[in-house]
Amino acid sequence: MKNYKPKNRLAAQTYIQGILKGDRVLLSRAITIIESNLESDKTLAKEIIQAILPYSGNSIRIGITGVPGVGKSTFIEVFGKHLVNKGHRVAILSIDPSSQRSRGSILGDKTRMEELANIDEAYIRPSASGDTLGGVANKTGETMLLCEAAGYDVVLIETVGVGQSETAVHGMTDFFLLLMLAGAGDELQGIKKGIMEMADMVVINKADGDNITMSKLAKRQYQNALHIFPQSESGWSPVVSTASAIKNIGISNVWDEIEKFKRLVDENGYFKKNRNHQQIQWMYNNINEELKNLFYGSKNIKEHLSVMEKDIVSAKISPVKAAEIMIQEFKDSF
Ligand code: GDP
Repeated sequence: MKNYKPKNRLAAQTYIQGILKGDRVLLSRAITIIESNLESDKTLAKEIIQAILPYSGNSIRIGITGVPGVGKSTFIEVFGKHLVNKGHRVAILSIDPSSQRSRGSILGDKTRMEELANIDEAYIRPSASGDTLGGVANKTGETMLLCEAAGYDVVLIETVGVGQSETAVHGMTDFFLLLMLAGAGDELQGIKKGIMEMADMVVINKADGDNITMSKLAKRQYQNALHIFPQSESGWSPVVSTASAIKNIGISNVWDEIEKFKRLVDENGYFKKNRNHQQIQWMYNNINEELKNLFYGSKNIKEHLSVMEKDIVSAKISPVKAAEIMIQEFKDSF
């Protein structure tokens, strides 16, 4: 199956030129090739990415996270429209690794962002699937590059605030936006401290109706909570604000803050420095992942590991020694 070659594939140049001209159909078809696990598609994908790489990068990449129900799609819909009205072209991508497990994406089940989906200046692509978060992140990262080459100057990468995917999104974006709710039990509950620490901005959504007072209170609490984190290397102090996505209140303020952030990090050099760091890190993440796959994917290693586990439990061998033997066995296998 992996050697199967789909008949409807075009020459790499056709995709490349189409993307550079901003052709949405060819962009979508190229993304499908990036998402594909077929060997012939992988070769084609590499060729396309290599060619568009010099044209990528000209965007602000914004990560958006928050627990399901916080209002991410509602927020992105109004936020995206706001950006389009300001003359931007917006690409919206999502990372949803849970979809591999449930075989039905949380993000894809609903009809989301209907109005935005019908605007020419906006491009929405739901989550790619894959066996590992690393794989999904690779595909989203490469999709982002294609969107940039196609002229989208704002990329929003959305993730569900339920797992490891926030770290992956943080590692591929310039600005990290956390959507929260007021009064959802303990104020800091639900979102782990590590995620708070990554946030450049916390927006307390649903600050409307009876919820306004609670939202203002939550804003102060989050401001205090963020205060205790050490100053970020970017030189930016995280901002907390309230918003109502449904009533379109506080949305333009979010973009104003992002613009302020961009000015700061352009001036102090952090923007470029962080991008460079992320690119290099991307390579290392892949090396780490591939090495792990090579090691744990080996049949001999797998068998020997289960013997080692027993020997460790019965104190026949120390864990450190066992690891050393296993690595040596791996090296000897080449
Ligand atoms: P997601 O799961 O994070 O994408 O959340 P959705 O955008 O699907 O929103 C979940 C629910 O919250 C929906 O019923 C929305 O209508 C509602 N919602 C979203 N934003 C707001 C808001 O600003 N105020 C109020 N009151 N409800 C909102």
